[in-house]
Amino acid sequence: MRDANHLGALLRRTAEGAPDAVFLQDGAAGAATSHGAFIANAERMAAALAAAGVAPGDRVAVQAEKTAAVLELYAGTVLAGGAFLPLNPAYTAQETAAFLEDAEPRVLVCDPDRLGALEPAARRAGAAAVLTLDGRGGGTAAEARDAQAPGFAALARGPDDLAAILYTSGTTGRSKGAMLTHRNLASNAEALARLWGFSRDDALIHALPVFHTHGLFVATNVALAAGCRCLFMARFDAAQVVSAMPGATAFMGVPTHYVRLLAQDGLRGAAAGMRLFVSGSAPLAAETHRRWREETGHDILERYGMTETSMNASNPLEGERRPGSVGFALPGVELRIRDAESGAVRGPGETGMIEVRGPNVFAGYWRAPEKTARDLRPDGWFATGDVGAFDGDGYLHIAGRSGDMIISGGLNVYPREVEAALDELPMVHECAVIGVPHPDFGEGVVAVVVAREGAGASPGGVMDAIAGRLAGYKLPKRVVVVDDLPRNAMGKVRKDLLRKEHARLLE
Ligand code: AMP
Repeated sequence: MRDANHLGALLRRTAEGAPDAVFLQDGAAGAATSHGAFIANAERMAAALAAAGVAPGDRVAVQAEKTAAVLELYAGTVLAGGAFLPLNPAYTAQETAAFLEDAEPRVLVCDPDRLGALEPAARRAGAAAVLTLDGRGGGTAAEARDAQAPGFAALARGPDDLAAILYTSGTTGRSKGAMLTHRNLASNAEALARLWGFSRDDALIHALPVFHTHGLFVATNVALAAGCRCLFMARFDAAQVVSAMPGATAFMGVPTHYVRLLAQDGLRGAAAGMRLFVSGSAPLAAETHRRWREETGHDILERYGMTETSMNASNPLEGERRPGSVGFALPGVELRIRDAESGAVRGPGETGMIEVRGPNVFAGYWRAPEKTARDLRPDGWFATGDVGAFDGDGYLHIAGRSGDMIISGGLNVYPREVEAALDELPMVHECAVIGVPHPDFGEGVVAVVVAREGAGASPGGVMDAIAGRLAGYKLPKRVVVVDDLPRNAMGKVRKDLLRKEHARLLE
């Protein structure tokens, strides 16, 4: 029988074929929810949303702590024909109100503590209902779900219909709503589950937030499609993740997770039975890749994606996982490098703008036709805003965001290359390279460095150590040593903040 809800069919696949298989397990050994029970709850959530007025195409905005109920709201929205719109709980009430104004959701689900601050903005934006969900999965949204009879009939939705809107993290510009279709999400989940060998035998440590593509779509959709179990954690806690490893097979994290896990005792023994470690959302330092292999015997599998396209590229499951590279285009996805000025397609070893085409590429930016027209061409190619190159073996290497590229004395400097050279210095724990205004060169390279503990890195020491490792124009004009780099929830360094802070350093 053909399910008329394209993505819904994938989300429900295991619930139909193996309803008793465990989907969500609290932490390492807590209460378990089966795939069947999860979908039954999602269907009741769908009924509650429909009763609240959600019609096909309507947005359901959810700003809540990570619980199973948030995933029920996601699946429930899809089954009800709506577009799921998750918002990072770290946004202030004022920031959230601006998103609501832009998105005009039919329903808002928020933390009970936020109700007073957000309800007026949601109503002004046209919300028919404002429900609550707390950090334990309780609230009026859960009550509305429990009041519904089981067995909601999913609304018909085709591959081109909208399933979600995710706001981009906005580290290089204003946050925009990326419109993702049923085909975008379903095709990516299928491709990743197959490529990474996920099956019902897997137990995935799920410690990522569920308002971002990594935790919401990569981790959750793959687990639903493959029928595997998730060890579901409200947040990343390095000690908890290590203690869960003996009962797990796979982990998906951002690079800072791996750096923190490396500092944990007992990592080697705990990781011994794991089959897969995936990293993405920000560049994994080649040094972290090497240290992980030394400590655990595993090669981290690095993949590359973004809010607008879900996943684009991945290192292979079998075969060499090359440190510092994000591997090859996913099956069904095309990647190419184009020269920023001439538009010519570049060959191996030549750096340029990364473009992507495939069933994963989004339908455009929400209510921003001009921005959509600029980045997403009629022939289907999307300009990612990332800069990179293929090596001679076809592995893709990312040099950084085009907005982060530094033009110093007319020459292009890719911060990633300078960061990679700095990462190799024993005194450097982590670093970020930015361009700031320079009176002669236009922009000058500045390295912001966190010293390795006990290594006593000084700006002069770092400058001396890096000299001779890179062409002169790429060398930092100034090194700043700091305690911490500012990062967003996905571990991306907030270069916009660093550029602002150090704007006058080279004047
Ligand atoms: P987001 O939309 O928040 O997921 O951010 C997407 C951006 O993160 C991409 O456009 C890249 O700039 C960056 N990114 C994601 N994965 C990687 C990776 N493996 N290596 C380097 N950059 C990455």
